[in-house]
Amino acid sequence: MNINDIKQIGIVGAGQMGRGIAQVIAVSGWQVLLFDVHEAALQGAMKKIREGLARAVDKGHLTADQMEPSMARLRPTHRIEDLVDTQLAIEAAPESPSLKSDLFHRMGLLCKHDTVLASNTSSISITKLGAASGRPDRVIGMHFMNPVPVMRLVEVVRGMGTSPDTVSLALEVVKRIGKTPVVCPDRPGFIVNRILIPMVNEAIFLLQEAGHGQHGEHGEINQSDLTPQAIDLAMTEGTNQPVGPLALADRIGLDTVLSICEVLYQDLGDPKFRPCPLMRKYVEAGWLGRKTGKGFYTYEARG
Ligand code: NAD
Repeated sequence: MNINDIKQIGIVGAGQMGRGIAQVIAVSGWQVLLFDVHEAALQGAMKKIREGLARAVDKGHLTADQMEPSMARLRPTHRIEDLVDTQLAIEAAPESPSLKSDLFHRMGLLCKHDTVLASNTSSISITKLGAASGRPDRVIGMHFMNPVPVMRLVEVVRGMGTSPDTVSLALEVVKRIGKTPVVCPDRPGFIVNRILIPMVNEAIFLLQEAGHGQHGEHGEINQSDLTPQAIDLAMTEGTNQPVGPLALADRIGLDTVLSICEVLYQDLGDPKFRPCPLMRKYVEAGWLGRKTGKGFYTYEARG
């Protein structure tokens, strides 16, 4: 498969990452098939992509006459079978090893034999997804960063069975959409999340140790002296990070942060990666961050 053979790229999962990937690919000129099992996710994604493109026009990153042609290249679908007409499919479904393995098994059965299957997973083994697909040579990690239209890096993750041709193709696609690829080994968390997620987890441990989230004398939820704002301010002002670790966790989604932590903990077998119990409680409560309107901070409907 050559980059010029790619006519349509499939995106599997139209959540915050899938819709961002769909947006940048549509702008770069490829047809995009956007698949999700939830109709509401597809409708929400099309609306958010239009808003994202309008913002890009306002900021001068895109000309006004590029907007409608980019929208016209997007085709939403709830039929996984439509992926048969794609030459590259990028999966961005929830960070669950069993769900992704099942998807790769199904995509391996229904996509054409030379279609390359990529995963945007944050931490799950590409080698495992390659085995599930039955075509490990054409399976690769393409790990975009959040928010996709803004962040330049894409980690290109080579599984045990990934062929050199598949790596070359992924690198060309990443460059064509104006991003910077870094080839990573197939180790849990790759490069970025191996370093970033333990930092986020540690920030939540700090908050927990300060008593945050425990019930006070009168049944109220204790906020503690050490607030999320204080931790984030210390890290932004003290280390020049643009966003503090707790605001970042809210942006990523606490369910996703927890899943990545679980993979790091299980696959590396080191207790230093154990997820903080307070994070687990937030996920159980449905306080997932921006996407549910509440995490370590609260958000208006527009985020
Ligand atoms: P999300 O919850 O916003 O979106 C997931 C989407 O997948 C939802 O729209 C859901 O309806 C859909 N979905 C569920 N089951 C499906 C199925 N069987 N087939 C197709 N679609 C299905 O999650 P997200 O934040 O977009 O994360 C998606 C992936 O991207 C995860 O693997 C995550 O680790 C990775 N990722 C996330 C971030 C981040 O900051 N959130 C950054 C990089 C990578």
